[in-house]
Amino acid sequence: MNNYYIGRKIPVNSQGWIMLCDVMGSDHDIAEAARTSYGKSEKDTSKDEHLIRYLMRHGHTSPFEMAELKFMVYVPMDVWRQWVRHRTASINEYSTRYSVAIDQMYEATEWRLQDQNNKQGSDGLLSEEDAEMLSEKEEAFHKAARELYDERIKMGVAREQARKDLPLSTFTQAYWKIDLKNLLNFLRLRCDKHAQKEIRAYADIIFDMIKVLFPLTWRAFVEYQKEAITFSLRDQMAASYLLLNVIYAVLKTELPDKDLSSHKTIMRRLFKFIPDEWKQENCRERDEFLEKADRLIPFPEGYDGFDPVKIMRGQDED
Ligand SMILES: Cc1cc2nc3c(=O)[nH]c(=O)nc-3n(C[C@H](O)[C@H](O)[C@H](O)COP(=O)(O)OP(=O)(O)OC[C@H]3O[C@@H](n4cnc5c(N)ncnc54)[C@H](O)[C@@H]3O)c2cc1C
Repeated sequence: MNNYYIGRKIPVNSQGWIMLCDVMGSDHDIAEAARTSYGKSEKDTSKDEHLIRYLMRHGHTSPFEMAELKFMVYVPMDVWRQWVRHRTASINEYSTRYSVAIDQMYEATEWRLQDQNNKQGSDGLLSEEDAEMLSEKEEAFHKAARELYDERIKMGVAREQARKDLPLSTFTQAYWKIDLKNLLNFLRLRCDKHAQKEIRAYADIIFDMIKVLFPLTWRAFVEYQKEAITFSLRDQMAASYLLLNVIYAVLKTELPDKDLSSHKTIMRRLFKFIPDEWKQENCRERDEFLEKADRLIPFPEGYDGFDPVKIMRGQDED
């Protein structure tokens, strides 16, 4: 099963692909690397999971560097530009100084609209009619860019200069080798919904591979990193305030005759610790906190018109 992926080109985003070339190490090797700390070795692999979970939970990361993976990737330049920002990998890339540029450009299969809240994101799709028109223009542009490139090459222009006007949609191919610790960092950042959809598609495939190749590490990673929520000090204050509000709203509805003045007093005191910018109409940090809080406790609906955004803006005082 561990060799299932090796040598298989897995398609990504219609024209790209990724292939696992080689893997060094296993969950057991990671656990064994950690055991050198106390000069012991353990053949019984049933003891590995407990240790791996401990390592992941406590940020004891170097044992995960003992495993390595080598991939071959075929990606458009704009995706690759984000990919190479991960400096802790080794790369050998197709050279467009040495060779004629790869004659393939990434064609969009959909045209996403600019997200109005997240300046780096997209949200929704362009209408089918507009998308069709843009795809036709894209095709003509790709054709013209390639023809100009080919013409320069034919006229003897050096490949290193002829390539200067090729679009970012041009494909490149590279070996990418990285240790598991830094690969998990790549996955944490690039499987996230804030990462661009195109690179996320590659990261999601690698994520699935890790599940098969390093199942114990994968589980610990999902639990302690990927799906974990970090609470800042501000978040903690706001969480306490929100929780008390939830309790207050529930009690007020369920026990209308109960005296709840002490709950209100505690809430008011906590509210003072919430910074003023969190009470404004637009506040990204507050909205991010509310997203995290919603993952912890989906906000109850119907309890006295309970509205967390209103509460965090200080508009709930009665
Ligand atoms: C959603 C998203 C949006 C982004 N937007 C932008 C942007 O607008 N502009 C932009 O320029 N970049 C942007 N980036 C790239 C980002 O800033 C990082 O460069 C990239 O994600 C690589 O992460 P990394 O440094 O953790 O990984 P790696 O380079 O693989 O490093 C792994 C870890 O090694 C350590 N390390 C590596 N090199 C150094 C060093 N020189 N000094 C100290 N420690 C080091 C750090 O602990 C680091 O976390 C974005 C990334 C994401 C995921």
